Amino acid sequence: MLGAIAGDIIGSPYEGRPIKTTDFPLFGKGCSITDDSVLTIATAEALIGNKEFSHHYKRYAKRYPDAGYGGMFIRWAASEKSSPYNSYGNGSAMRVSPVGWFAQSAEEALELAHQSASVTHNHPEGIKGAQAVALSIWLAREKASASDISRSITERFGYDLSQPITQIRDTYGFDVTCQGCVPQAIRCAIEATSYEEAVRLAVSLGGDADTQACIAGSIAEARFGLPAKLAKTAKTYLDAPLLSVATSFNKRYVDSRVWSWSKLVPPFFQNRRNAALAQAVEDRHLDRAATLLSKGADPNHRSQPWNWPIICSAHDNPEMLDLLITSGADIDASEGNKHYTPLMLAVRNHQLPAVGYLLKAGADRSLQSFAGLMALDYAIDEGNGSITSLLIEHESDPGVLRHALDFCERREINDNQTHALLQKRISTFSVN
Ligand SMILES: [Mg+2]
Repeated sequence: MLGAIAGDIIGSPYEGRPIKTTDFPLFGKGCSITDDSVLTIATAEALIGNKEFSHHYKRYAKRYPDAGYGGMFIRWAASEKSSPYNSYGNGSAMRVSPVGWFAQSAEEALELAHQSASVTHNHPEGIKGAQAVALSIWLAREKASASDISRSITERFGYDLSQPITQIRDTYGFDVTCQGCVPQAIRCAIEATSYEEAVRLAVSLGGDADTQACIAGSIAEARFGLPAKLAKTAKTYLDAPLLSVATSFNKRYVDSRVWSWSKLVPPFFQNRRNAALAQAVEDRHLDRAATLLSKGADPNHRSQPWNWPIICSAHDNPEMLDLLITSGADIDASEGNKHYTPLMLAVRNHQLPAVGYLLKAGADRSLQSFAGLMALDYAIDEGNGSITSLLIEHESDPGVLRHALDFCERREINDNQTHALLQKRISTFSVN
C-alpha cells in the first residue's frame, strides 16, 4: 500500500495542472500527500482494527481536514449521520489498496472492498471501482500475468482495458468517476513493466493525476514491488502517526509474507539441492537433474508457496517432464492458487510434443486457471489448430468439451472447424 501513497505524492502536483508526458521529475516541486494517502491509511487502520470503515474515515477527515477531499465526502464526514451518499466517484478506489494485501482470498478481497466502499460510495459503479482495484492487487500478488489480470477484470466488471495508454492519452481528460478513471489507471499498471513506468503512465494521462497514479501504483506495487528508494522518499512525506500505521500495516501484511514463509524453507543443504534442481530444469540439463533427483532433490519443491513448482519450467520439454513425473512430481501442480498447470503452460506456449506427453501421462484436462479457463479453452484462444484437435480427440469428459463450446460462445470465437470438431466429439458421448 506504500505503492499507492508514493503514487499519490508523485501525481499530486499534476491534479488540475495536466501534463501529457511521462517525462517529469518524480518527487518534484509541489509534491505532497493528499486525501488518497490519508484515506488509504485510514483503510489500513480499519483493517488492522475493527473494520468499522466509516468510523476511521471520519476520524482521519477530522485529523487531516485539508487533504483535498470531495465536497460530498466533507459533508458526510462532518455530519452525525453515517448514511452513504450513493457516490460513484473514484474515492472508493483510491483508498482500497490495503484490502488487496489484507485479504486471504479473492472472495475476501471483493467482500472487504464492498464494505470499505459502501459506507459512502454505495452506487454500483462506486463499489465496482473499489472491487476492481482490490482484485487486481490480489491477482498481482498471486503472480497472475498482465493478460490474466486484464481478462479477469474485464470479464467480471466489464471494464475495457484493451486500449494502450498512447491511444487513450490524446483525448482523455479530467474525470473523477470510477468508471471514467479506474479502468485507465488499471491499464497503466498492466501495461507497465515496472512500478515507476506505471505511475509515469498514469500521470501522463493528464486526468485526476494523483488518484490515477495512486491506483496504478497500488497495483504496480503488487506486480513489481516498490523500489526501496521510492519507498524511502515517500515515507518522508508522512507525519509520525500516518507513518506508524503505514509501517505496521506494511510489516504485517506486505513484507510479512516473505518473512513468514522464509521460516518454512527446508534445511540448508536440501534447499540448495532443490534450488540446483530448479536450475537444471531451467537449463534443460537432463543428466544433472537426474543426478540431483537421485541424491534426494524434491521434484515438488517450490522456493515460495506462490512460485512455480519446478515442473512448470519443464512445460516445453517432454524428456524433462518424464524424468520429473517418474520421480514423483505432481503432473497437475500449479502455481499459487488455481494458477497454470504444466498442461496449460504447454498449450499456451504451443508445445505440441509436450502436450502429447502430458495427455498420455494422465494430466487432468478439467482443471481451471483462476481465470476459469481449461487447457482446451487456452488452445482455442491461442488459435492453435493441431493442439486444439489433439485435446478434443483425447477428451473423454463431455463437460470439458461443453466448457470449450461455452467459452467460444462467450468470447464470440467463430471457428467453424473447432466448433464442428467439438460437436462431433460431444455427439459420440450422447450416442453411447
Ligand atoms: Mg487526491
